[in-house]
Amino acid sequence: MRVAVFGTKGYDRRFLSEANAAHAHELIFLEPRLDLSTAPLAAGCAAVCVFVNDCVDAQVLEALAGSGVRLVALRCAGFNNVDLAAAERLGIDVVRVPAYSPHAVAEFTIGLMLAVDRHIPRAWSRVRDNNFALDGLIGRNLHGRMVGVIGTGKIGALVARSLRAGFGCDVLASDVVTDPELERIGVRYVPRATLLEQAEIVTLHCPLTPVTRHLIDAAAIARAREGLLIVNTSRGALIDTAALIDGLKSRKIGGVALDVYEQEADLFFEDLSNEIVGDDVFQRLLTFPNVLVTGHQAFLTEEALTAIAETTLASISEAEAGRELANRVGTERVAG
Ligand code: NAD
Repeated sequence: MRVAVFGTKGYDRRFLSEANAAHAHELIFLEPRLDLSTAPLAAGCAAVCVFVNDCVDAQVLEALAGSGVRLVALRCAGFNNVDLAAAERLGIDVVRVPAYSPHAVAEFTIGLMLAVDRHIPRAWSRVRDNNFALDGLIGRNLHGRMVGVIGTGKIGALVARSLRAGFGCDVLASDVVTDPELERIGVRYVPRATLLEQAEIVTLHCPLTPVTRHLIDAAAIARAREGLLIVNTSRGALIDTAALIDGLKSRKIGGVALDVYEQEADLFFEDLSNEIVGDDVFQRLLTFPNVLVTGHQAFLTEEALTAIAETTLASISEAEAGRELANRVGTERVAG
């Protein structure tokens, strides 16, 4: 199948090309992201392959459908950037990679948690400046801390297990379904409001839906414990960034580690080091000594990129052969 691969980076080209040896699709690697202005680049392609910040709204889907596209293959798990109802109406199938390497994201989450809690980036920049003073670098043990995990699916369950069984944390969890295996090791499911009131650290692993949007907002922060540490490797809009900044300024929030950001589509995955970044909210976030931000890289391991490429191309082969799409995303998935 002829596939327009939008937002191609060097690593996409490498891992998709390697995995394509088993499929022989015609992959057209395109650097621009998919949006209404770039959609015509998919002319002559039956499928587009996109990532987290490509725009796949109704207008874009209409343009794609008009040029013969019948499949949107997301090379990621989240699908909040796709108008699923419009896709269904236009007869375009949407597939994703439901699980590639939850370990990649879970391990990075723990890394961020430790890094912000123990001030590792600040310590490293001091040492590079021959400043070996330790003032301001006091952390807390993870052992015995009360950590709240919101969303205990594939990634959240690994994080909860690692915190509970590995570090000996007191782990609270919130999800619409419970995981008996986690309960067996002592993870306690509580209502989200209770978790947000009791946890010293909150880590987010639920999908972004209308229900979960801004689940960390001014009201949640007001009810939280003093010095709350927040880690988000899920989706930026789970947090109201303006409220987060207020919480940092008032010192109610003691630390923040983010791999995702509400308005990341305008920033992440690009080298903007020669540009003036106009996002004042993001720039304000970077001024806090207790905030650590990475550019949506939690997934970025060899294992995950291999799995993403193999699953994406297998889905495209299924579509080409008219087989049932194992990783199809339907409108029924929007709820929850
Ligand atoms: P998953 O579907 O396995 O788990 C999501 C969990 O969230 C499920 O258990 C679900 O029941 C739960 N959930 C749904 N609605 C909820 C709600 N209202 N409150 C609490 N829990 C709720 O997904 P996953 O593979 O564990 O991925 C989690 C998220 O991580 C994805 O949605 C994606 O946005 C993000 N992600 C980020 C990266 C990255 O590189 N930073 C990589 C992969 C995934």
